[in-house]
Amino acid sequence: MTTHPPLLAARDLKKHFTIKGGIFSREVDRVHAVDGVTFDISAGETLGLVGESGCGKSTTGRCILRLIEPSSGQIWFQGQDVTRLNGEALRAMRRDMQIIFQDPFASLNPRHTVGGIIGEALVIHGLAKNRHELDDRVAHLLETVGLLPDHRHRFPHEFSGGQRQRIGIARALAVQPKLIVCDEPVSALDVSIQAQVINLLEELQEKFSLTYLFIAHDLSVVEHISDRVAVMYLGRVVEIAPARELYDNPRHPYTEALLSAVPIPDPRLKRKRIVLQGDVPNPIRPPPGCHFHTRCPIAEPRCSQEVPLLERSSEGHWVACHLRR
Ligand code: SF4
Repeated sequence: MTTHPPLLAARDLKKHFTIKGGIFSREVDRVHAVDGVTFDISAGETLGLVGESGCGKSTTGRCILRLIEPSSGQIWFQGQDVTRLNGEALRAMRRDMQIIFQDPFASLNPRHTVGGIIGEALVIHGLAKNRHELDDRVAHLLETVGLLPDHRHRFPHEFSGGQRQRIGIARALAVQPKLIVCDEPVSALDVSIQAQVINLLEELQEKFSLTYLFIAHDLSVVEHISDRVAVMYLGRVVEIAPARELYDNPRHPYTEALLSAVPIPDPRLKRKRIVLQGDVPNPIRPPPGCHFHTRCPIAEPRCSQEVPLLERSSEGHWVACHLRR
């Protein structure tokens, strides 16, 4: 889907969680969290992955890192199928792919100093020869994310939310990854702090040639940082396009509805708000055909029978809709 060979390619990725019940603990149902997701990310690119909560975007990010095992599909990273890696090869891959979590407080061990938290990955991957070098590298990483070297002696609770997210970023950077999955990294932060953290991520991308999968539930958050944006609904990607193209020319009715809720900075311009009827359907029994047909303002009878494939609409712009191509 991109013009350069991708650093990461997800192909028909699925994650179905089994629900067990009864005295024999048999499978009684299945949550279709990720239901056939395909996308590429080129080296140095940021792909924004957007959708309402429960649409499967965080599960997609965790499957890519093998923090949870995909049910099926392939994940190609630097020419290797990540789903087939084990042992030392999986450990080496994990050094190249890191994650920044949504809740910086919950993701930092409260009993460890900041130095211990950031240094742990350096120790695990043998990236510091001795105590002195470990100390130096942790101090340098803290400076890189805008904190002070002396902060390494403090504990997570002594920092603000924005500072804790900077610690999470320093931990991810410690092993010099190529790709970072940013899983809603600013959602838990005040609006005033969000821009600072996004600016920092952009600076670090430039400095270290990083590639990001940037997950968010809000299109306005990913607008400035993303080169391309993929929109997910109930486990499927429904639209993917270069960021500017997606914001100026959305094709999928769901993307249009999401975009209609994004405020426009110029008060003279007005956008008609599209309010979707009903709730997101239960992912245990997603609607047949197009998952969006129960809420789509332009649905036709065939939408509830035929699954729309993700097809090319224009250069780099892909849409899964029977009526909008
Ligand atoms: Fe709406 Fe049908 Fe397109 Fe789905 S396929 S988004 S229901 S028009």
